[in-house]
Amino acid sequence: MFNTDQIEKFKTFSTPFYYYDLDLLKKTLETLKASCDKYGFMVHYAVKANANKKILSIISSYGFGADCVSGNEVKRAVECGFDAQKIVFAGVGKSDKEILSALKLGIFCFNSESLQELEVINSLAEKENKIAQVALRLNPGIDAHTNKKINTGLSDSKFGIDFNKLEEIIAFVQGLKNLKLIGLHFHIGSQILDLEPYKLLCERSNELQKKLSNLGLNLEVINLGGGLGIDYYKPEKNSVPDFEKLFDLVHSNLNVKDFQKVHFEFGRSIVGQCGTLVSKVLYTKPGEGVDFAILDAGFTDLIRPALYGAYHKIENITSQALENGVYDVVGPICESTDVFAKARSLKKTKRGDLIAFYSAGAYGEIMVSGYNLRDFPEIYYSEN
Ligand SMILES: *Cc1c(COP(=O)(O)O)cnc(C)c1O
Repeated sequence: MFNTDQIEKFKTFSTPFYYYDLDLLKKTLETLKASCDKYGFMVHYAVKANANKKILSIISSYGFGADCVSGNEVKRAVECGFDAQKIVFAGVGKSDKEILSALKLGIFCFNSESLQELEVINSLAEKENKIAQVALRLNPGIDAHTNKKINTGLSDSKFGIDFNKLEEIIAFVQGLKNLKLIGLHFHIGSQILDLEPYKLLCERSNELQKKLSNLGLNLEVINLGGGLGIDYYKPEKNSVPDFEKLFDLVHSNLNVKDFQKVHFEFGRSIVGQCGTLVSKVLYTKPGEGVDFAILDAGFTDLIRPALYGAYHKIENITSQALENGVYDVVGPICESTDVFAKARSLKKTKRGDLIAFYSAGAYGEIMVSGYNLRDFPEIYYSEN
């Protein structure tokens, strides 16, 4: 997927490094923007997928909002050009300090999922002499059919408030004078490729909206969360996710009143394909049936395979070999889980070759750790 010039340049970079294709990021954002405009939907970028400042600044320049899950993400988003009025702040447990700083910055909305937290937001807002806008994150009881570790909409998940308790919660919120309830929020999981769960989510939202109407409530926000998946197997073919297909499905299935706006919170689908992790082969050694390719990148640089058993397309981008070999692609960290792929077919690989992990733009750089006191990976961009 990289041309000869790019690969020659990569040979001069210190490894491991993340490489961001900013043209692809911009193309993705333009596509998304056009689809949003067509349907009148509002998108908040989920900062937790990648909080790289350059990337955030590009995303904010398109006028998108931000979806944050910590006080520091809220601050970073504002620093990188996101309008505070377009920031939503989610998370199962927000600290008093985080709530206070978000209140001071004047964010659009707290997505809250516990009664205790709503009470705390209310009392802090009262102290600040402010009215905090809140949306309730409901657990819709929907199986997103994705990796168990990133499935969030089932009833036994720690996320959200049971949708059966909606009336009770609304009565409670109405008693809190410094809160203004403006909407409902959902997020059913991540890396969702089969769109059927979104259809169920629309149906669930329609039922809940009916209940709200019966209570005489007109809530302007319907936030369907993020979760749209990307193609980890064929990133070269599907480099821009099909936002339009999801929007079309929502447009046809979701009841939206004139005073309402539909919001989304995409992370992976916006930044996933624009990032590649490039690593150097330190050593190869024979194993049982397959050889090991031991890289200078480990799970401290890209943890998704070790954490969720996630798949990345991997290529040897410098090997001139005509034949392939079969390799366990592993990192140098002193943990048995530091394995990127087992029995993967790669061009015959030797010490010094460069190995690319595609689709590493989301939940890659942001999850880098310093375990084993390892250096952090370098960061390069297509424009330099
Ligand atoms: C993680 C998260 C998202 C983004 O998920 P993606 O799968 O990266 O699109 C959106 N909303 C909430 C509340 C989240 O926790």
